[in-house]
Amino acid sequence: MLPLNIQQSAGNVRDRAFAEMAHQDAHRLSGFREGFQSFGQAGGMAMLCCRCNVVAMCNVFETIQTGFSCKAGYGFFMTKPILIVGGGLSGLACAVTLAKAGKPFELFEGSNRWGGRAGSDYKDGYILDRGFQVFLDAYPTATELLDLEALELKPFASGALVCMGGGLKQMADPFRHPRAFFRTLAGPLPPADLLRLGRLTLKLKSMLPEDALLVPDVSTLTFLQNFGFSDKALVRFWRPFLGGIFLEAELSTSSRMFHFVFSLFARGRATLPREGMQAIPDQLAAKLPKDSLHLNTRVTELTPEGVRFADGAWVDGSAVVDARDPWVDPEAPGACGTVCFYFACDVVPWTGPWLVLCPETEHINTLTDLTSLHPGVAPAGKHLVSVSSLNPNAIEEDVRADLLALPGVNVAHWTLIERIAVPYALPAQPPGHLSPPSRTGASVNGFLRCGDFLETASIEGALASGKRVGELL
Ligand SMILES: Cc1cc2nc3c(=O)[nH]c(=O)nc-3n(C[C@H](O)[C@H](O)[C@H](O)COP(=O)(O)OP(=O)(O)OC[C@H]3O[C@@H](n4cnc5c(N)ncnc54)[C@H](O)[C@@H]3O)c2cc1C
Repeated sequence: MLPLNIQQSAGNVRDRAFAEMAHQDAHRLSGFREGFQSFGQAGGMAMLCCRCNVVAMCNVFETIQTGFSCKAGYGFFMTKPILIVGGGLSGLACAVTLAKAGKPFELFEGSNRWGGRAGSDYKDGYILDRGFQVFLDAYPTATELLDLEALELKPFASGALVCMGGGLKQMADPFRHPRAFFRTLAGPLPPADLLRLGRLTLKLKSMLPEDALLVPDVSTLTFLQNFGFSDKALVRFWRPFLGGIFLEAELSTSSRMFHFVFSLFARGRATLPREGMQAIPDQLAAKLPKDSLHLNTRVTELTPEGVRFADGAWVDGSAVVDARDPWVDPEAPGACGTVCFYFACDVVPWTGPWLVLCPETEHINTLTDLTSLHPGVAPAGKHLVSVSSLNPNAIEEDVRADLLALPGVNVAHWTLIERIAVPYALPAQPPGHLSPPSRTGASVNGFLRCGDFLETASIEGALASGKRVGELL
């Protein structure tokens, strides 16, 4: 039973890390006493885990009731890699964390690209994200795992244009856009609400993401009403603005999620990478050893010992991480969805990287001119406008009818490039969903599970969840 190629090493830092992992595996799997067989060795012992075939060999073992500790001199050979199923941001973050620690892994992604829900399509010279989404440059885990400079992020303006009464009214952060101060005063929000917004922004600016998950857990709507915002502020600003983030306009999402997101908006900027959202997962994948990465590899069966593929092939693993989307589970949370329409046109009736909120139209929630951030997302001379709807059934004609409400838009000259519907975009996060401690890493039927639905439903949540699981292994 003893593998022939046990590698002996002492004092080597990398091997110590591996040996530590073997120890953790011993505890995490079926428990040390049942899970391992021991073999006498000259000056030490070798241990073979019956379930995962990890061999740990130590010069001095101290066995105790529930496990063991190794005093000095490590040596081991691990025959099986950790298997990660799902190459979205959480699976990639897990893989990057394992790679950094020098732990062998294999990453299986069912589709033909990395990134899952964070990705882009390419059509006729246009870069089309798979649903409008933004990257907040204050995301802490993202800042740690990604090279933000290489993403060439460009920020949106801090504020919004609100389309109402046939015109566009501006509201802007007076610290970042002082020249828009008087326009903001005469803008869509009554002065008392502007003051409340300023007070809330200052309060949340210093809030840490982990503290956001400790505030009283009510719906965002209840929180905003209790904070004193008027109906006008809710209808004209909060519903379309947060509706575009939570992908639901009732604002039934937990106020903890609101605090998490808004504190990051207050501290940093909403941005887009130059090459679209796809650049984020692609950068993570580029950090990983190529022979551990497997696209177009759908897993059809997961067990704690290994995984099976569509062609019936089976691979053993020392552990299995389930990084699939939440909806593979019949007991998954509900989903919030969106439909994104990409239009090409020669002119847009506003200038600059503003998010346009549409509280008075039936189908459009927000729109933005993506070329005002990155001209390269469209062929030269063209604007690419992303129009988002929270109505899953919205069709081109509905949106064109709504676009007439925008001053200066000649809808007849707007060409639809693509309609991208994402009914399963975000897991619903009502009150009760974001109760610490984080559920990441919880073993489900013997797997470690990661994904945005276990943290905050966001790029940051997915990355943090994957990283945490990587660190557990
Ligand atoms: C339209 C939209 C807008 C968004 N807006 C924002 C935003 O503005 N800001 C923000 O921070 N976040 C936003 N998000 C959320 C963010 O994109 C997600 O939270 C994050 O990408 C989720 O990553 P994940 O790894 O948890 O899950 P997923 O991305 O769902 O990854 C799961 C992966 O598992 C793969 N998989 C599933 N089954 C199998 C199988 N059997 N075998 C192999 N592979 C399998 C899937 O193909 C997928 O790649 C948005 C998402 C969408 C869709």
